[in-house]
Amino acid sequence: MTLRLHNTLTGAKEVFAPLEEGHVRMYTCGPTVWNFAHVGNLRAFLFYDLVRRHLNVAGYRTTHVMNLTDIDDRILDQAMHAGTTIAEYVKPYEAAFFENMASLRAERAEHYPRATEHIPEMVDMISTLIKHENAYVADGDVYFRIASFPKYGALSHLDRAGLKAGARVAADKYDKESVSDFALWKKAHPEDEKLGAAWDAPFGRGRPGWHIECSAMSKRYLGDTLDIHSGGVDLMFPHHENEIAQSEAANHKTFARVWLHSEFLADATGEKMSKSAGGFTTLRDLVAAGHDPLAVRFFLIANAHYRSRVRLSTEALHAAAEQVRRLREFADRVKRTPAAETDDGELAKRTAEVRAAYREALDDDLNLPQGIGLAFDHIREANAALDAGRVGALNKVALLALIDDMDAHLDVIRAEEPGLAAEVERLIAEREEARRSRDFARADRIRDDLKSRGIALEDSRDGVRWRRISRVT
Ligand SMILES: [Zn+2]
Repeated sequence: MTLRLHNTLTGAKEVFAPLEEGHVRMYTCGPTVWNFAHVGNLRAFLFYDLVRRHLNVAGYRTTHVMNLTDIDDRILDQAMHAGTTIAEYVKPYEAAFFENMASLRAERAEHYPRATEHIPEMVDMISTLIKHENAYVADGDVYFRIASFPKYGALSHLDRAGLKAGARVAADKYDKESVSDFALWKKAHPEDEKLGAAWDAPFGRGRPGWHIECSAMSKRYLGDTLDIHSGGVDLMFPHHENEIAQSEAANHKTFARVWLHSEFLADATGEKMSKSAGGFTTLRDLVAAGHDPLAVRFFLIANAHYRSRVRLSTEALHAAAEQVRRLREFADRVKRTPAAETDDGELAKRTAEVRAAYREALDDDLNLPQGIGLAFDHIREANAALDAGRVGALNKVALLALIDDMDAHLDVIRAEEPGLAAEVERLIAEREEARRSRDFARADRIRDDLKSRGIALEDSRDGVRWRRISRVT
């Protein structure tokens, strides 16, 4: 079984092999924690989870790094309006990101470095780039000199002439040598000091640009060359081009060997969903509308191949919930049904074929929708065999193994711990009773007790809802 991945750099599916045998170094662009994550971003984050899980299925150990951008212009603006520091401002959004990831059952990366905790690494890399004449200081800002990096544009297959003509960069900084040069470092303004957003550097006090953080933090945790770099397709240009330019100009090594890009979540017109679709913008909106986070997970990773656009709709989420229900019901039925005296040879053969085909689909550039489609066809066949009492002990083992194969990627079958829902509902009723009798201390105690067990309560118009939260420190 050979894993093949579509490498944006070459535009082709390639056989994947990491530099170090058995170990994959992977960097994925994480959230900017200026607000709650948009469902479009969640699609990319769950794609990272799919890559990671399949690498593990394929027998690799992974070192996965996902950065947290806790400084950028939006964060500065918002913190200023809120009259707080950037560090205080981002806290709830960072916590919400980890809650989202936990309720969507994304496996945790090995490292979640924060940009503001890696300023020295960024300053070092910028100093190297200035020394190599790939960067220059202009009025306290530092820019990368794109003319010094002939490979610029290779990832997004832009030619440099086209890049100049079509430069989307506003030419508002006349001290740049070229409009497409991008900022590595921004000079500190007096208000940045109050926000806690200014650091010393040999080239002047200031703060880092966005692109440099990924180059500096990936080097810190994964070295000069990564096996896989991944992100949403909207990051390909300019962000990923800029990462390549910075890293390769500083390190003189290939930055990332394989680039994987996941497509947009689309709006009704097929374009990138940037605002709310039918009122849904965040996971919180979807959950408030009654959608199960695991149906959202299933929809985001299994409804379409990661390189196809997919449109979020209520119908699609209901269909995903129905597929999750069918999978759970089937798994449960196979376990419960007493084994027939003899195994069905034909069923055994088909189950083995479907397991192999499922694995092959995943090995073929992570084609989970195709694998799931094949498995669902087989589940129909197996249900008929169960109806007819033809499923023997070995058939059951093989069918449960197929379910396990699928759940290694989907992770939607495992239920909450038994009895949890009933226990939580009972405590919610107790808390309501306490509030009615104006015993607010007791009501708060119940809420805190649930919180310490990883359950958050939300008062809504339709009563109290509860959801799982991760306990991130
Ligand atoms: Zn990045």
